Amino acid sequence: MRTSYHSVHEPICGICGKRSRSFESLREHLIGPLPKAECERVFRERGCDLCLNIFGSRNALRVHRDTCQLSYGYNAVLYRFANLGIQDDLRIDNGKSRAVALACKMVGGGSDGSLDLCAKICIIDEYENILFRSYVKPYLPVTHYRYETTGIRPEYLRDAMPLRQVQRKIQDFLCNGEPMWKIRPRGGKARILVGHGLDHDLKCMELEYPAIKLRDTANYPPLMKTSKLSNSLKYLTKAYLGYDIQVGIQDPYEDCVATMRLYRRMRSQAHRNENYPLASDPQNKNNFASWRQSELERMTPEELLAISRSDFYCWCLDGKDYV
Ligand SMILES: [Zn+2]
Ligand SMILES: [Zn+2]
Ligand SMILES: [Zn+2]
Repeated sequence: MRTSYHSVHEPICGICGKRSRSFESLREHLIGPLPKAECERVFRERGCDLCLNIFGSRNALRVHRDTCQLSYGYNAVLYRFANLGIQDDLRIDNGKSRAVALACKMVGGGSDGSLDLCAKICIIDEYENILFRSYVKPYLPVTHYRYETTGIRPEYLRDAMPLRQVQRKIQDFLCNGEPMWKIRPRGGKARILVGHGLDHDLKCMELEYPAIKLRDTANYPPLMKTSKLSNSLKYLTKAYLGYDIQVGIQDPYEDCVATMRLYRRMRSQAHRNENYPLASDPQNKNNFASWRQSELERMTPEELLAISRSDFYCWCLDGKDYV
C-alpha cells in the first residue's frame, strides 16, 4: 500500500475489490497467465473484456458490450478516402475550456530520412468533428515521404501551409484568448489538448503548450504497461475500444478519434469524490511523505487508504467540470 499509492482513481477489480496500478495489471489479475481463480471465473462469465467492468448478468453484459465496442466509423472511412485539402474551423471563441485532440503524420528528413517532419495534421473536437486538417510544408527538405504509411506525395506538400503559420494558428486556438502565462490547471478558457505522444508531436511542430493542459494517452498511468512503458495507440484502440487502426495508409484523423475516445472513456469513469483540499489539483501528489513511518505502521489498511492519494492526475476530474 505504501509504495503503490492506491486511491479511488486506480482501476479496481469488480469482484475482489483489489486496486491495480493500470488496466493492464487489472487485466492480468483477471485473465492473465496467473489470474486470481475466483475473479477469473466470474469475469469470464460476465466481465467486459474492453473496459474490464463486471455486470450483474450475462444479459446485462451483452447489452453493455454493444455500447463498449466501437468501430472505425463511417466518418473515418469518408475522410480517409476524400482528399479534402485544407479544412480550417479553428476559431477563438473565448468560451469555456473544451477538449480537442491533435495528431500528425510525419515524413522523413535528414540524410537517412529518420528525422521526423510534421507533414499532415488534424484537430478534432469532442464529437469527432474536424476543426483543422491540412498538409504542412516543413522547413527542411523531405528526403523520405514514407508513402506506404503516410500516403503523402511531394505534390501534396509543395503548396501546403508553412509550418510557422500552422503552428501560430494552433497555438492561438489552444490558448483561446488566454495568455500562456495565465493558463491554470482547471477552468479558464484554454483548451485541454488530447493526443498520443504529444511531446513528440509538439516538438515537431515547434509548438509550446503547458503540460497541465495535456492529456496524453501514451503517458497516462492507467493506460500504460505494467512495466510503465507506453502502449502504442494501435494497441490501446484494439484493447480498450475494440477496433483496428493504422492499417495501410494512415490518416491523423483516425488517431485523433481514437485518442479522443480513450480520453472520454477515462474521463467518464465514476470515481468517488475525494474530500480533501486539492483533490482536484493536477499537481496533487501522494502525501505519505508527510506522515511519520511509525504512524503509518500503526494504521489499518482502511486508514491507509483514506490518506492514500493517487500520484497522477485522474482524468475523471476533468469530467467534474462538465456537471
Ligand atoms: Zn478518477
Ligand atoms: Zn479480483
Ligand atoms: Zn465494457
